[in-house]
Amino acid sequence: MAKEELECSFCGRKKPETNLLIAGLDAHICDRCIEQAHGIVLEESKQNDSSDLTAELKLRKPQQIKAFLDEYIIGQNMTKKVMSVAVYNHYKRLLQPVTKDDIEIQKSNIIMVGQTGTGKTLVAKTIARMLNVPLAIVDATVLTEAGYVGEDVESILTRLLQAADYNLEKAEKGIVFIDEIDKIARKSDNPSITRDVSGEGVQQALLKLLEGTVVNVPPKGGRKHPDQKFIEVNTENILFIAGGAFDGIERHISKRLNMQAVGYSASKSEEVVDQDNLLQYIIPKDLKDFGLIPEIIGRLPVLTYMDPLDAKTLRAILTEPKNAIIKQYQKLFSMDDIDFSISDGALDYIVEKAIEYKLGARGLRSLCEEVLTDAMFEMPSSNDKKLNVTKSYVEDKLVKTTLKKLKAVS
Ligand code: ADP
Repeated sequence: MAKEELECSFCGRKKPETNLLIAGLDAHICDRCIEQAHGIVLEESKQNDSSDLTAELKLRKPQQIKAFLDEYIIGQNMTKKVMSVAVYNHYKRLLQPVTKDDIEIQKSNIIMVGQTGTGKTLVAKTIARMLNVPLAIVDATVLTEAGYVGEDVESILTRLLQAADYNLEKAEKGIVFIDEIDKIARKSDNPSITRDVSGEGVQQALLKLLEGTVVNVPPKGGRKHPDQKFIEVNTENILFIAGGAFDGIERHISKRLNMQAVGYSASKSEEVVDQDNLLQYIIPKDLKDFGLIPEIIGRLPVLTYMDPLDAKTLRAILTEPKNAIIKQYQKLFSMDDIDFSISDGALDYIVEKAIEYKLGARGLRSLCEEVLTDAMFEMPSSNDKKLNVTKSYVEDKLVKTTLKKLKAVS
């Protein structure tokens, strides 16, 4: 066949009418048909994605969800259990067939209370990873009421859309983690003081998102302005997880516990209160006393707490999770054929320093960096292929760096 007589086997266009004609074994395809076919492939894979999601969600029972969380999160058993049930129920609600029995399953939005660095974000991230749904992590401190400097609450959904690559269907089944929710608590019991821009107003604005509503979301974020196109996002099936340190809430808990104790007869109040971990006794009323409005508390019906991290937990965090810090270093070194090991004494010493300087779990990583930077700098170009980190090696490296510097990081 003469070159100019060649045509696209799909649409029949002659070669001169196309920009590009690609030859196969015994057929040709033009650029336009390629683009069209590509569009069909994308559309198909989108549909498969959402049916995958449904299939996957059906499979995991609460115990399986918990087992998955166990692989990444050390301790925090109460939270992992409560979360597993809440997530399971949330997605069960999402998959429920339409029935006529008028029993509407409500959302199981969650609120986690615990000191910073105890794994709240990690829990949210791990759940999103397991479910393969988009996750947006937002900081409540940047949110303000509409019209004030800062971000509108709608920006939360912009983030979720971005995390879902603008796939609306996926975004509407995603998870939003609102960090530092305690920072928008009402600062004072007297509402008349001055307008509380960052507190109660934001809580009010958050309410409708949490409950489930259709929101006009500026896809690129930023302030709403008239000529920007909006995407309508329905928040009905979005799971909201809020987290916060609620510094000082122990006072409210302790006060309440004491009052209860007074009301009981002496023999009944014998149950010993664990003063070191008062958060375990938290109830919704304590959140109210701290300054969250009752409506918000009502829309975050699942309340759970994080245990403080003790030495044993910190030690386990170093080596046990699936992507534990030490495993990561082992992998990094092995890429340069370096056999990396670290002694128990060295690990204990790192934990000791993390506690001494109140660095928490986040500090473990910075301490390891300080200890290993020299080796990571020198060893890839040396013939030495073995690194055994002992306690004295750690001591030596940490003395050289100022631990004060690390303190500033936390
Ligand atoms: P939070 O959100 O409570 O401030 P993060 O989830 O950001 O805390 O935790 C900081 C880091 O500490 C995590 O990336 C993780 O490496 C580590 N970490 C904290 N708690 C745990 C835990 N219980 N199990 C495993 N790693 C943890």
